[in-house]
Amino acid sequence: MRVLITGVAGFLGSHLADRFLAEGYRVVGADNFLTGSSGNLAHLERDGRFRLIEHDVSTPLSVDEALDGVLHFASPASPPDYLDLPIQTLDAGGLGARHTLDLALRHRARFLLASTSEVYGDPRVHPQAEDYWGHVNPVGPRSVYDEAKRYAEAMTMAYHRAHGLDTRIVRIFNTYGTRMRPHDGRVVSNFIVQGLRREPMTVYGDGSQTRSFCYVDDCVDGVFRLFESTRVDPVNIGNPEEVTVLELARMVMKETGSSRAPVFLPLPADDPGVRCPDIAVARRSLGWSPRIGLREGLRRTVRYFADLAAGANVRSRAMREVAS
Ligand code: NAD
Ligand code: UDP
Repeated sequence: MRVLITGVAGFLGSHLADRFLAEGYRVVGADNFLTGSSGNLAHLERDGRFRLIEHDVSTPLSVDEALDGVLHFASPASPPDYLDLPIQTLDAGGLGARHTLDLALRHRARFLLASTSEVYGDPRVHPQAEDYWGHVNPVGPRSVYDEAKRYAEAMTMAYHRAHGLDTRIVRIFNTYGTRMRPHDGRVVSNFIVQGLRREPMTVYGDGSQTRSFCYVDDCVDGVFRLFESTRVDPVNIGNPEEVTVLELARMVMKETGSSRAPVFLPLPADDPGVRCPDIAVARRSLGWSPRIGLREGLRRTVRYFADLAAGANVRSRAMREVAS
C-alpha cells in the first residue's frame, strides 16, 4: 500500500508520514517548503520506503507509482503564516484540493482532506459539533484560510458525489507538539520559546479567549483511524480540554520555570472567542479519543524546544531560531 501526503515537510505532515510508514505503508511526500522544513524529514533520508517530490500543489501533479491514498495536508496553517501568504493559502486550499482530488481520481485512491476547526469561524455554538455550519467572515483577513478550507470540503464532497471518489474529511482543532517551528507564530510555540528565553509571554487581547489543544500523537492517531475507516462525513479531531489563553500562559510559565509577567497585545481581527471540539462522532465512529492531557503534552513539547535550544538536536536552522 502506498499513500501520497502533501505538506509532508510540515509539522503534521511529517508525523503522519512516520505513522503510515510504521503501519507498513510506503509514502510519497510532496512539499514546496513554503512553511515546512527539510529537517522534519531528515530521519527519512535513507528510508527506501519514502520518496520526496518537491512540488507546489497549486499546479497539477502526477505520480508514477500506484497510489492507494492521497492525503492533502499542504497549506500554511499558522495565522501569521496565512496572513502573510494570503494568495498562496487560497491556492493551496483551493487549487491544491482540486489537483490532489484529480490525482486521487486517476489512481482510484482514497482521498483525505486536512480541514480545520476554522470552518466554524468565530462560533456561535459551543462546543462545535460537525453539524454546525459555522460563523465565518468571508472577507476578513482570516477568510483566506477559512474559505479555502470550506471550498476544499465542498470540492471533496463534490468529487465523492459526482465521481464516486472514496473521501474523508478531518476537521483538526489546535494541535501542538514536537517539530513545530519555534517561530511559526502559533500560541503554544510562542509561549514556550518566550518562557525558555525568560521573555514575557505575548497574550493577545485580555487572554479570556479559549482554545482546546491536542497533542500531535493523538491527532495523528485520529487521522490515521479516519483514513482506515469508512466515514465520509467530516470528523472533528481535537482534545476537548478547553483553557483560556491566559491559563495556557500560566501552565507554560510553570513548565518552563519562567516568572516573567505576560504582556498584553491587541487581539487580531476576527480571532475566535471560543473553540472546543465535540468529539462524540470520533469516539463513536473511530473509537478514538485523546490520551495525552495538556500538561503532559506541554511537558514533552517544552523538552523538545529546550533540547533544540541546547543544541542537543542537530536540526541547525530551527536551533538557531530558538537560540537567537
Ligand atoms: P505546517 O505549516 O507545519 O505544514 C504545512 C506544510 O505544507 C509545509 O511543509 C509547507 O511547506 C507545505 N505547503 C504549503 N503550501 C504548499 C504548496 N502550495 N505546495 C506544497 N506544499 C505546500 O502546518 P501544519 O500545522 O503541519 O498543518 C498541516 C495541515 O493541517 C494544513 O492543511 C492545516 O490547515 C491543517 N491543520 C493543522 C492544524 C494544527 O493545529 N496544526 C489545525 C487545523 C488544520
Ligand atoms: N495568541 C496569543 N499570543 C500569541 C499567539 C497567539 O495570545 O503569541 C492567541 C491568539 O490570539 C488566539 C490563540 O492564542 O486567540 C490561539 O492562536 P493560534 O495562532 O495558536 O491559533 P488559532 O486558534 O488562532 O488558529
